[in-house]
Amino acid sequence: MVDKTRHVAVCPDCQSSITLPPAPELWMRVTCPECGTQLEIVDDNPWELDYAEDYEGEEETEDMDYENYDEGLDDDKDSPWNT
Ligand SMILES: [Zn+2]
Repeated sequence: MVDKTRHVAVCPDCQSSITLPPAPELWMRVTCPECGTQLEIVDDNPWELDYAEDYEGEEETEDMDYENYDEGLDDDKDSPWNT
């Protein structure tokens, strides 16, 4: 028996229909061909897509921002109108 069903899901970003691979699996990652958004399959009945989470470099950049912010505050203390 040949299954001719095409697995199609809708992009949450641009609402276009995306044809999934022949044997899609839950949590499989796909890229929207219309808007290039990284998506993953979050439901299989029916097929549903959601934004794929990016696990790379979680909180490391946050520390850097904090240090830069502190330096900015120190500069302000030297302002002449602050005395
Ligand atoms: Zn899209």
